[in-house]
Amino acid sequence: MKYFQRFNDVTDEYLRTDKHMHTTWTDGQSTVAEMAHQAQKMGLTCIAITDHIRKNSTYFNDYHDEIRRLNHEYDVEILVGFEAKVTGFCGAMDVDPKVAGQSDIRVASVHRFPLGRNLYAPDHFDKKTCQEIELELAMAAIRRREANVLGHPGGMSLRKYGEFPLEFFDEIIQACAEHEMAFDFNCSYHSHLIEDLKAVLGKHNPFVSFGSDAHHRDKLGGWLKLLRINGRTHDK
Ligand SMILES: [Zn+2]
Ligand SMILES: [Zn+2]
Repeated sequence: MKYFQRFNDVTDEYLRTDKHMHTTWTDGQSTVAEMAHQAQKMGLTCIAITDHIRKNSTYFNDYHDEIRRLNHEYDVEILVGFEAKVTGFCGAMDVDPKVAGQSDIRVASVHRFPLGRNLYAPDHFDKKTCQEIELELAMAAIRRREANVLGHPGGMSLRKYGEFPLEFFDEIIQACAEHEMAFDFNCSYHSHLIEDLKAVLGKHNPFVSFGSDAHHRDKLGGWLKLLRINGRTHDK
């Protein structure tokens, strides 16, 4: 699959990528140019700008042009991406198909839980329900395969309750492998689960995407620091 490596084949160069971040185009604090500059300084080889998008967003064309233009100014490959929420148990994403068609990196993330006609924050649900709904939405997005990355799997439950069952990760990771969807190994959500997740990722061997979910250039490439702390680059 273009842009991604399978977990057991990850190279040192691939580790120097970050495919999940936000800029001043939406709720980030750094511009695309600042992210690119920082990435170059850190020795990253490739980044994807994945700002939040909705079906009715109007900024995409200007954003797309800026990112493509900045590719000529930095020694870092800058991919055009977005992060869209999963809208329901059909697994659809809240994004215009034309926008999706022009994007290299299409991140589908569980952010809100559908109930009837409305979407709710995870706060409205107890821990077990929250985890189960999050699992079902993630599985639906994987099967639908409009995205090429499943954003921060388990992230809503981890943020709200600090836990997402390992057997749910197993189910998601196995489905990612079968449906060729990259698993967003995201240091903003998964940094305390590295060893557990590495075991499951090694078992099913899906494509992986390393992401920081940085909203500021200082948070870019968080994996580089974490993996250095762990005294290893990667495991086979
Ligand atoms: Zn997100
Ligand atoms: Zn994000």
